Amino acid sequence: MNKGVYTGSFDPVTYGHIDIIERAAKIFDHLYIAVVYNANKKGLFTLEERCELLKEVCKNIKNVEVVVCDKLSVQFATELGASTIVRGLRVLTDFEYELQMATTNKELNPNIETIFMMTNSHYSFLSSSAVKEVAEFHGDIHKFVPENVEKALRKKFE
Ligand code: ADP
Repeated sequence: MNKGVYTGSFDPVTYGHIDIIERAAKIFDHLYIAVVYNANKKGLFTLEERCELLKEVCKNIKNVEVVVCDKLSVQFATELGASTIVRGLRVLTDFEYELQMATTNKELNPNIETIFMMTNSHYSFLSSSAVKEVAEFHGDIHKFVPENVEKALRKKFE
């Protein structure tokens, strides 16, 4: 079975992530969405909340499974029996960080490949942090996130 792991903070999931998930799910027999715990990034949503939102959003994609990752991505992928890490690329500024991560991961485990999927041009500007900023000031976010995420964001900033 060809398994992939799409890693990220997903704080919260946006249509940009969903686009990558839908496309990656067509490439792999099984796609894990790994919500990565990062001690340096204080999230708005808890890991459990992010997972719940993702599960709801992906419930109709049969070969997708949402999991929490509290270790190194390459170690986690190995444990899951996945040989590929999936990441999304938006603007040039993503590239430097992603190259650094992919190169580090390759050093750690040469058997795990990182593949990049280009953003859908509609979502090239879209990030979780931008959505959170707009939501904080009660701006319209319905074009950026699905309904369940919109509701959850509204609740956070009530
Ligand atoms: P991280 O903190 O690991 O970067 P994110 O949740 O911000 O987590 O993003 C996870 C992955 O999804 C990253 O590879 C990021 O570049 C990608 N991504 C985020 N938003 C988009 C988007 N709008 N289009 C394509 N890829 C995206």
